[in-house]
Amino acid sequence: MICHMKISKFALYFFILSISLSLQAKKYFASSENVVLISLDGLRPDALEKAKTPNINKFKLESAFSLTAQAVAPTWTLPNHTTMVTGVQPLWHGVLWNSYIPSFGTVTVPTIFELLKSKNMSTALIAGKEKFKHLLKPNTIDDFVLNKGKQKVLMDEALDLYKNKLPNFLFLHMRHPDSVGHSIGWMSPEQIKAIEECDVQIGRFLELLEKLKMTDKTTIILTSDHGGSGKQHTFPNLVNSTIPWMAKGPAVKRNFALLQNNISTVSNAPTVAYLLGIKVPTSYKWQAESVLLD
Ligand SMILES: [Zn+2]
Repeated sequence: MICHMKISKFALYFFILSISLSLQAKKYFASSENVVLISLDGLRPDALEKAKTPNINKFKLESAFSLTAQAVAPTWTLPNHTTMVTGVQPLWHGVLWNSYIPSFGTVTVPTIFELLKSKNMSTALIAGKEKFKHLLKPNTIDDFVLNKGKQKVLMDEALDLYKNKLPNFLFLHMRHPDSVGHSIGWMSPEQIKAIEECDVQIGRFLELLEKLKMTDKTTIILTSDHGGSGKQHTFPNLVNSTIPWMAKGPAVKRNFALLQNNISTVSNAPTVAYLLGIKVPTSYKWQAESVLLD
């Protein structure tokens, strides 16, 4: 009897161990060779109802998405983009300013770029605003392009870089919805037009992926850093903090509304790591989980 119980205990132990190992293996399985994180600066989800965005609409139909994801406070560009790549709240990463101040140096906490470089993966950042230089921690970003020009010109650079380098992780920032929001107003016809132009350019990027036969190996996340109202996005109210979050990729459910209410700019770094099959060291102290756990 005792012997039988011992065997049962052993069987149970090995059963639990094997389940836990298989879960672990599943968790760190890379579903994508490449991840592209596209941030449309200042994109309110409801602007997508007003704008004619055939490429983003098709993308949404093929993605897992939330139209109620949240920026973190302060709902400003640099704190939120820093949060996207560090997986922590602004108070933790300390980038609480919103312009390029060279003497402030670069972000000090670990970033997704840094994590990927430690695994010999390639990284790239293409941005439309100079303040993104605060993300340039030494030896963490293989290719950095700053282009404050028209969206087509920015995308020309993105297409060239992607074609030539095929980075494992590309972070692509498109500034125009925000710039037009500040100068003319959020949801103005001019801002809607800027979003429609983003859509055209994103269409060119998706077309390139098809042409390179990378679609089945790549997950694309399309999101934003904050919303806006009037000509500002200063206060962290709902209209300023609500953003879209969509992901399309080989292992991502299609046309699937994500119901969890904790998707935020903090979620991006953990999600990128998860998609690329990277276990995040506990020393990174990230404050969210991947949106796309099984
Ligand atoms: Zn912004």
